[in-house]
Amino acid sequence: MTTYHTHSPQETETLAATVAQHLRAGDVIAYRGTLGAGKTCFTRGLAAGLGIKSAVSSPTFALVHEYRGERLTLYHFDMYRIEGEDDLYSTGFYDYLSDPRALLAIEWSENIDFALDFPHITVEIAPGAEEDERVITIKGDGRF
Ligand code: ADP
Ligand code: MG
Repeated sequence: MTTYHTHSPQETETLAATVAQHLRAGDVIAYRGTLGAGKTCFTRGLAAGLGIKSAVSSPTFALVHEYRGERLTLYHFDMYRIEGEDDLYSTGFYDYLSDPRALLAIEWSENIDFALDFPHITVEIAPGAEEDERVITIKGDGRF
């Protein structure tokens, strides 16, 4: 487990781009953090770190956005409105889990705790003392 402090959206993106270098196929990132914490911002940095050029936006309406990188395909989920197994199934979550190139990054992962019964990485983003400060705690399997 490692805790980082960032002081701007750019700094959060840079941190995430560095984190991306340590990620591999099959990794699942479960975010913890409220609205405006910086989950989408962090995902933008992951995408940049994977060499993805397209703009990353919140998957609020589509529930999942797919970005093909050179090494990994990033699946960015918003589980805000997911209420159970049937909802989750309809997002394609289980199909993407079995994609051998997949990296999953999941906003509002609290809502799918019932499905996160395997080892995964948690990225918790909380406000810091200053206005643009964020405290980002990454818990994983020793890589972070
Ligand atoms: P979430 O996806 O968690 O709802 P977003 O990434 O969409 O949050 O938005 C984060 C907001 O916080 C943006 O408006 C961003 O500019 C702002 N922000 C301010 N400081 C930071 C920081 N250190 N890291 C990330 N975002 C920050
Ligand atoms: Mg978001």
